[in-house]
Amino acid sequence: MQYTFSTPIEYVPHVGPALQKRLKTLKINTLGDLIFYFPKYYQDYSKIQRIDSVKINENICIQGKILEIEEEKSWKKRMSVTKAIIQDETASIQAVWFNQPYIVKNLQKDDVAIFAGKIAIGRNSVYLSAPTFEKVSNKENIHLGKIAGVYGETKGITSRWIRFILKPMLDNLKDKIPETLPTSIIEKHNLLSFREALYQVHFPSSLEKTEKAQERFSFENIFMITLFGAKKKSENEKEIAPMVPIRKEVVDRFLDDLPFKLTREQEKSGWQIIKDMSRGYPMNRLLQGDVGSGKTVVSVMATINTIKNKHQVVLMAPTEILAKQHFKTFFNILKGYNINIGLLTGKEDKYYSKKLKNDTIEISRAKLLEKTANGEIDVLIGTHALIAASTKKKTSKKESKVLFDNLGLVVVDEQHRFGVKQRASLCRKQKDKIPHLLSMTATPIPRSLALTIWGDLDLSTIMEMPKGRKPIITRIVTENNRQKAYDFIESQVSEGKQIFVICPRIESDDEKKEVILEMKNVKEEYEKLSEKVFPKLRIGMLHGKMPPKEKEKIMKDFRLKKFDILVSTSVIEVGIDIPNASVIMIEGADRFGLAQLHQFRGRVGRGEYQSYCFLLTDSGTSKTSQRLRAMVKYDNGFKLSEMDLKIRGPGDFFGVKQWGIPDFAMNALKDPKIIEKIKESADEIIEKDPNLDQFPALKKRLESFSERVHLE
Ligand code: ADP
Ligand code: MG
Repeated sequence: MQYTFSTPIEYVPHVGPALQKRLKTLKINTLGDLIFYFPKYYQDYSKIQRIDSVKINENICIQGKILEIEEEKSWKKRMSVTKAIIQDETASIQAVWFNQPYIVKNLQKDDVAIFAGKIAIGRNSVYLSAPTFEKVSNKENIHLGKIAGVYGETKGITSRWIRFILKPMLDNLKDKIPETLPTSIIEKHNLLSFREALYQVHFPSSLEKTEKAQERFSFENIFMITLFGAKKKSENEKEIAPMVPIRKEVVDRFLDDLPFKLTREQEKSGWQIIKDMSRGYPMNRLLQGDVGSGKTVVSVMATINTIKNKHQVVLMAPTEILAKQHFKTFFNILKGYNINIGLLTGKEDKYYSKKLKNDTIEISRAKLLEKTANGEIDVLIGTHALIAASTKKKTSKKESKVLFDNLGLVVVDEQHRFGVKQRASLCRKQKDKIPHLLSMTATPIPRSLALTIWGDLDLSTIMEMPKGRKPIITRIVTENNRQKAYDFIESQVSEGKQIFVICPRIESDDEKKEVILEMKNVKEEYEKLSEKVFPKLRIGMLHGKMPPKEKEKIMKDFRLKKFDILVSTSVIEVGIDIPNASVIMIEGADRFGLAQLHQFRGRVGRGEYQSYCFLLTDSGTSKTSQRLRAMVKYDNGFKLSEMDLKIRGPGDFFGVKQWGIPDFAMNALKDPKIIEKIKESADEIIEKDPNLDQFPALKKRLESFSERVHLE
């Protein structure tokens, strides 16, 4: 039979229907799956000791001949005891197995075998306790006398069994295992060949070789992701986008007119965007900047250059509150510029026109869409409603679809809140051109990680905060100090400040259940605070089960200072701006990730007052406090994301999961040097040969890789 990687596992010798089922639970359906089922760790059976040198209580490995072997049944104890005498050139020793009557079927007098087990001491002798063994014949040993891989096992599937099945298959495939990586890359990075690496990972000749094998596979894995990004990027460069020339005088005037001076990195990012848009192909840029670093105004800077070139801009935000906030910001900054801005959300659609001077009017959805389609609207700001196929209001499909006359720039705020498809739908081709795309995120990820998983994007980063921000004082608060924290909150409220209290996250496989439990939590906390802790203060609550209208009303009332303390679940996380809030108290802080804690913290310190973040914790595991200590030490999102990478590893970062990166490759993702090297190689190949015509095996591999990576 001709075996290949895609041979169904049931066609592999010795795999019957029962084992096939069990292998399925390990996600092994094909021979290829089995071949890529790598050992979890290795056991070193490579050192064979002389029998006269073994010591009590040690795990040892010996090779010898069976002088005699016998099974005895002890009827009284209903036990079977098998005893054998093993001899090598130096001495002999007894091996004892309890209740393994089948041993005598496999091991006979005069057999030569390798035995591995522990030396135990009996009543009057030392013996080898229940050793595993492998007979020595003219075939190569695969279990003992060498380093053996230990696999994730399940009932009926032992590591020994896997080795037994795999070895002949690997030998069979030997000459048919193609090299996927280009020779130049193998040589440059001193990697094992694919074939050699597969052998070394399953049947290693030394521990160093297992490391080399893993290195090769990690490299390859990250290389494929990076290559995928590089290829996508190069394909994007062949697309056509509206050309938006740089109008320097306009932008300079805009910068002069702003009430504040942009930070150096804001300005740099702004110009990067404007420059990208002056090329003929679509920009695909991600602007990363900490909460409050001022990304919005950077997008306004690009907007002004776009409008002055007679192109439209659309901005999509994840929530209605944020969309409205942006509408206000754009309106305030741009009202002197003789332009029209529209707001399209779930319920109310608004419109600001140059003719209205200083005011906005409500406008019908139909009118707004009409004005967008005929180009009257210069900037359209909205929520998901921008891309929804139909709206709750009974509009016809045709009417609800947002069409532009001359769309130049798409801005997606808090991009991680949207799916790939949603972003793509806003950026769809119109009149044969793809608009430029600016994504923004306040959840920065370390650069090395970004280079890999977002290889098709260009990155701009704003690391510095606008001048004059007071760093938020962050404290870890244990149960003993809870009262002190409450006292402090009371004194802040008496000074007219407002407070956020965040309830712990509840994790459950059932998302609906999670929301309900969290709601219960918020209600209890609300009752506790309003009845027992702060009976004199005004308290409100917010949770995910509330209808959007109610949520909005609460936020509005909070902003209008109708109450002092807002108890909330994590729904508060994104973008909310309450400049008067000076304390955020996070209950069960150790249940949140660093990125989320940092996002919460960004809810305060937005006004001129000194602000505080209290991290409540009752547990004290070292990892937990490591995380909370990092929060106290750093107020910078980038620094924290690097810490997070160190503490938790890359697996939990947003956007990493979809790539299906195996555990062994995750470590390489932590190493910026490896990532840079891989990136360089991937770029080099794509630059030389964008279609990979010279590398057919690589091309094929990339194609199957692309298929595997489901982009939502
Ligand atoms: P984010 O990056 O979190 O979206 P925003 O764009 O909402 O931040 O900006 C936060 C606040 O900082 C806004 O009130 C904005 O007007 C202000 N801001 C932005 N840039 C500057 C600057 N260079 N100097 C002073 N204030 C700034
Ligand atoms: Mg923002």
